[in-house]
Amino acid sequence: MRPIDSSEILNSTSAPLHMIDILRRKRDGRELDAREIAFVATGAADGSIPEAELAAWLMAAWIRGLTLNETRALTLAMRDSGVKFNAARLGKRTADKHSSGGVGDKTSFLVAPLAGACGVAVPMISGRALGHTGGTLDKLEAIPGYRTALTLAEFEAVIQKCGASIIGQTDELAPADRKLYALRDRTGTVENPGLICASILSKKLAAGLGGLVLDVKTGSGAFMRKMEDAEFLAALMVATAEAAGTRTVALLTDMGQPLGRAAGNWIELVECVGLMRGEKPERSREPNFDLRELSLVLAGWMIHLGGEAANLAVGYRRAEKALEDGSALRVFLAMVEAQGGDVSVFDRMERFHKPGATRVVEAWESGFVAEMDTTALGWAAQRTGAGRKKPGEPVDPHAGILFHAKRCARVERGQPLATVYATTAAQSAEPENLIRRAITIGPEPPEAVDLIGKVFTRETAEEYLQTATKSLTA
Ligand code: URA
Repeated sequence: MRPIDSSEILNSTSAPLHMIDILRRKRDGRELDAREIAFVATGAADGSIPEAELAAWLMAAWIRGLTLNETRALTLAMRDSGVKFNAARLGKRTADKHSSGGVGDKTSFLVAPLAGACGVAVPMISGRALGHTGGTLDKLEAIPGYRTALTLAEFEAVIQKCGASIIGQTDELAPADRKLYALRDRTGTVENPGLICASILSKKLAAGLGGLVLDVKTGSGAFMRKMEDAEFLAALMVATAEAAGTRTVALLTDMGQPLGRAAGNWIELVECVGLMRGEKPERSREPNFDLRELSLVLAGWMIHLGGEAANLAVGYRRAEKALEDGSALRVFLAMVEAQGGDVSVFDRMERFHKPGATRVVEAWESGFVAEMDTTALGWAAQRTGAGRKKPGEPVDPHAGILFHAKRCARVERGQPLATVYATTAAQSAEPENLIRRAITIGPEPPEAVDLIGKVFTRETAEEYLQTATKSLTA
């Protein structure tokens, strides 16, 4: 006789659900059904499930992994945990981009105005700092007055007026993600493909997008450091978003070093505005070359998926023109102003920057920058004061790190490698130590790594998932 499985009895379709039963089933490695998953997402959104139980569920999901069915059910339940943005009212095709998270990852400030300037409407819903990675909203709030919490009516009005708007998860849109995102940050449950997929896609699908471009990071600063894990995440997200009706592509991109030259809050905006004002870095010699190139490719995809370019190459060229002729900058400044931000700070970017303490980290020997442990560099940036140690804490808008040399660069002993901007002098010591341990200087230049690798579309993602034999556990 088959042994009695009490969890099946407790889970019969007519029985009321209880969080304790769901927790025990997930703990024991059983697959939850869509009803149970929806119970968790709804309870997270409306506060009916206490944080301790949600945290236990997240840890069980992290350790046991989420199956494809569970991931899809969680994504849809989190999407449906609040209201949806009616993108059809914009009267234009919409597209957006989201990154799986990295250090110095500031492409949103470029791609939203680039696509907006090329006629695509960009309703972008972003997050705060997560783990060692910075948060788009924390960076934007370095602009005095900038409001990241808009009502949906205000969000729509800004997009109508400017072409793009960047806001945070709200109590209205994907509230389950707002809750779970913050809790994952505190409970060591960030790096799981199913949880990342549901978190990113719930807010993107709630925004009613026509096209979505996913920037899936791999390398030492990514949540999915190994290439095969990043590929799996990319395929999972593309297949899940496509099944929910959104045209999606995912690009695998290098996070083996910080993106661009800045990791922090205000200093990241300065870097982007510099590019929008026409700064044109030369290949490999300039630390912000990768930022410009990646932003143009991501924006090129958005413009293509948004119906304003026949293919990526045309989209790229349109994005480049918008960067060079000042139209992207105009969209960016209009968006900042429409969201209450003081745009005059961009006329005095240097003077506005007032870090509590500045410390220059010099190269300790001559040679080539051979390796960068980018996760450690992300924590270094967080500890300058640019990130928070406890939920809800304010971040220091002026803190962060500027990198003067990146992988492959030749450096001489005593040459500045990085500048640390910290809230206090005492807070600048730990970042310096972390930077010294995270950067390896060697006698030979390392092998170059491609900035952009595989691209997943619906077909390649489905094929990948069908043949993927790996466990779903991160
Ligand atoms: N970005 C998100 O919105 N969620 C994640 O889990 C990771 C990156």
